[in-house]
Amino acid sequence: MDHKVRVRFAPSPTGPLHIGGVRTALFNYLFAKKHQGTFVLRIEDTDQNRYVANAEQYIIDALNWSNIPFDEGPGKDGGYGPYRQSERKDLYRKYADQLIASGNAYLAFDTAEELEFHRNDHQEKGKTFIYNWHNREKLCNSLTLSSDEVQKKIEDGEKYVVRFKSPVNETLVLNDMIRGEMKIDTNILDDKILFKSDGMPTYHLANIVDDHLMEITHVIRGEEWLPSLALHVLLYRAFDWKAPEFAHLPLILKPTGKGKLSKRDGDKLGFPVFPLAYTNEESGEVSRGYREDGYFSDAFINMLAFLGWNPGTEQELFSLDELIKAFDIEKVGKSGSKFDAEKTKWFQHQYLIRKSDLEIAKLFIPTLEKHLGTSFDKELDLEYITKVVSLIKERATFADDLWDLGSFFFVTPESYDEKAVKKNWKEGTSDLMTELSNMFEKLTDFSSNHVETELKAWISAKEIGFGKVMQPLRLSLVGALKGPQLADIANLIGQEETVRRIRNAVEKLS
Ligand code: GLU
Repeated sequence: MDHKVRVRFAPSPTGPLHIGGVRTALFNYLFAKKHQGTFVLRIEDTDQNRYVANAEQYIIDALNWSNIPFDEGPGKDGGYGPYRQSERKDLYRKYADQLIASGNAYLAFDTAEELEFHRNDHQEKGKTFIYNWHNREKLCNSLTLSSDEVQKKIEDGEKYVVRFKSPVNETLVLNDMIRGEMKIDTNILDDKILFKSDGMPTYHLANIVDDHLMEITHVIRGEEWLPSLALHVLLYRAFDWKAPEFAHLPLILKPTGKGKLSKRDGDKLGFPVFPLAYTNEESGEVSRGYREDGYFSDAFINMLAFLGWNPGTEQELFSLDELIKAFDIEKVGKSGSKFDAEKTKWFQHQYLIRKSDLEIAKLFIPTLEKHLGTSFDKELDLEYITKVVSLIKERATFADDLWDLGSFFFVTPESYDEKAVKKNWKEGTSDLMTELSNMFEKLTDFSSNHVETELKAWISAKEIGFGKVMQPLRLSLVGALKGPQLADIANLIGQEETVRRIRNAVEKLS
């Protein structure tokens, strides 16, 4: 790169950020960091009708949670602010005027009713009305009216918009870092509105002006903006500005592969589509978020990175730093990538089993408090909880799962799995278990190794099948036929508790 890379994520604060938005932010972030560049957050809030008050904070919180914070943006001025378009609104008009003066834009006075009439009229004839070269010479605008007439209308307070004058009969060559070269016939373009009658710029004008003023070098955004690329390139040309390079990211598709993953899909399909839970202030409706569902942000980010990109190797687990190193915008695919909720869980599981037992133990504490009350001593018991975690985390996806996998490390079983009892607690079992509890009571070393050796020796000496002892013992200690190695359980809950549990079971099941 010959000049400093500056990229931007430019969401419109119309609601919570969908995971597709986070993916766009992530790819911008990775690209910026890879090239020692700057990642800018710009809030595109020119459409006051769709503005949602808590959306901007949500976007910032989501980027922070995802660990991909912006370098410049609202509250972090890097000399290119303000970063909210609503705070820049006075600067756009002059750029619209500049285009009018150079003949690249014109004023259009057509009323909503007139345009509606043309649309219907065309439709009746089986055609589509497009405001462009085809009919702009017949409509009510500064191309057809004399300058006196235009002046008079403005003085009379007639409402007008500023439209871009698309060039005629030209084949425009567009370049995209992902899609390569694309050719487009300018005759199919419509003369998009750049400036609205309410005095606000449209997305197109504000976006190009800001990218220019903020010295954005690469525009990385979703595929839904590809149809706007021709207009944007033409705008740069009309201003005589150097255009940035563009990359349009592939869509994220529904798990079925049919259609784009939408904000509404999450609730229907049973997985979150938002990074953080979101409360709609108007309706009170709450949408689930990855954070609240118990996902680690690094697992979430790793999963997102693979939606549209892959390193071309077998490696799937990437820390953020590794992603920065491996990421290559040219390796992003063109076709949409299916969202896979199961794969997302897989990433989560992989991250969980790789985190330290202590870290997971700390995350487990709120769940323990929920089930046990605050009766236990966090400081004192952290070592115990950590040991428990080391025995059961292999089977967990979320910290919350640890309760189901290991509640018996914290509470004595009150009941026993009926089916398992029927099958394994036979005549004679109670006597056998009583004998076993006596043997356990006498041990002077209760380490797992020792318990294991003694248990095996004891069973062998009795010349009975292992299952005859192991299953009832498991039922006694756990209440069901699940859990890690019995000797490990016995060691952790301790000698006294082990003996007590066996005797409890004998009492209840005899
Ligand atoms: N404000 C647009 C959006 O909401 C930005 C599109 C772009 O990146 O150019 O996605």
